Amino acid sequence: MGTSRDLYLGPYLKCSYHTETKTVERRGCPKCKEPKYHSSKFCPDCGTELGTYEEEVKAASADYYDMDDLIDVFNTQGEYANHDGFEILMPNMYRDAPRSFSISEDFSHLNLKDVDVDVEMKWLETAFEEEIGLLYERYDSVEVCWGVVQWWS
Ligand SMILES: [Zn+2]
Repeated sequence: MGTSRDLYLGPYLKCSYHTETKTVERRGCPKCKEPKYHSSKFCPDCGTELGTYEEEVKAASADYYDMDDLIDVFNTQGEYANHDGFEILMPNMYRDAPRSFSISEDFSHLNLKDVDVDVEMKWLETAFEEEIGLLYERYDSVEVCWGVVQWWS
């Protein structure tokens, strides 16, 4: 097992979010307000019957991994930090793309002299119009970009 570098070159979406305080429901001890993961019906620390409790957490206002209706449509990369930030979404489906946007880990080259950046950005906007509309509803902003995205996997 090791790490590999992935490289994408082409049109992508930059989806910005902000952080906000959210109330989430947790399973565990309602009195200690801690998760308890064993099979007992009662908290081993205070004896209270286990159930659910609410906890306030700082979280992104939008998170692509929570979007079940879109999860397979884009490959997503981002920082996932607890501060305002953005996610990068790259198309994960062919949909009559003008060319392949992925570059192999093995030796390869891509001659870009004939690439029409505007055509490729327009293709992304058109081919994924419905999904981009949903992203606009959830993120603070959605920007169509064109360039290089690199990440380690
Ligand atoms: Zn307890």
